[in-house]
Amino acid sequence: MREGKQKKLRRALDVLSILEQTYPDAKCSLHYTSTHELLIATILSAQCTDKRVNQVTPALFEKYPTIESFARSDINELSKDIHSCGYHNQKSKSIQGSALTILNEYQGDVPNSMEDLVSLPGVGRKTANCVLGECFNVPSMVIDTHMVRIMNLLKFVQSKDPKIIELELMVLFPEEKWIKLTHLIIDHGRAVCIARRPQCHTCGIAPFCPSNQN
Ligand code: SF4
Repeated sequence: MREGKQKKLRRALDVLSILEQTYPDAKCSLHYTSTHELLIATILSAQCTDKRVNQVTPALFEKYPTIESFARSDINELSKDIHSCGYHNQKSKSIQGSALTILNEYQGDVPNSMEDLVSLPGVGRKTANCVLGECFNVPSMVIDTHMVRIMNLLKFVQSKDPKIIELELMVLFPEEKWIKLTHLIIDHGRAVCIARRPQCHTCGIAPFCPSNQN
């Protein structure tokens, strides 16, 4: 039977409330000290774990401390420096290209709008939303693999398309919770609702989840 809109909204708030109680310290797990560092860490995190990125970035940010140093880097050397994050050739091009654009077109400052961010090479909506939310406090959601999987399991969405998911979740969840929601779901996806082996028997939101296997 199709769930009514009000019932779905109520369920979304219940899930949010439980997740907030369960993961009170949920936050971005990438390490950074400036906006451009987060941008670069996020580019590196595509198809790679945050843990691996955090192993690579301390030395990387020491070697290239400014946006200028990334822009003027030797692309082959930069590629080697980020090798362990995977897709190193593509990612080095994205990092250097973004740094050059930021330097030439934005006076060295990472832009703070979706439109400008996605115009940077290798920067998609997911990376842009991460930077907007974390660094500029713009209400935004990062639709990563955990968000796609868990929001479908919860039947809050029925799509694998990140843009559709983002727009549909924006209607369900209060704007001031959007940034936090991503971190809560990522924590839940790592700890309990693990891909292909969800631990429904220990899941706090199981009573509100139509995919509960208990
Ligand atoms: S009940 Fe199971 S499927 Fe639903 S969110 Fe919890 S772990 Fe995931």
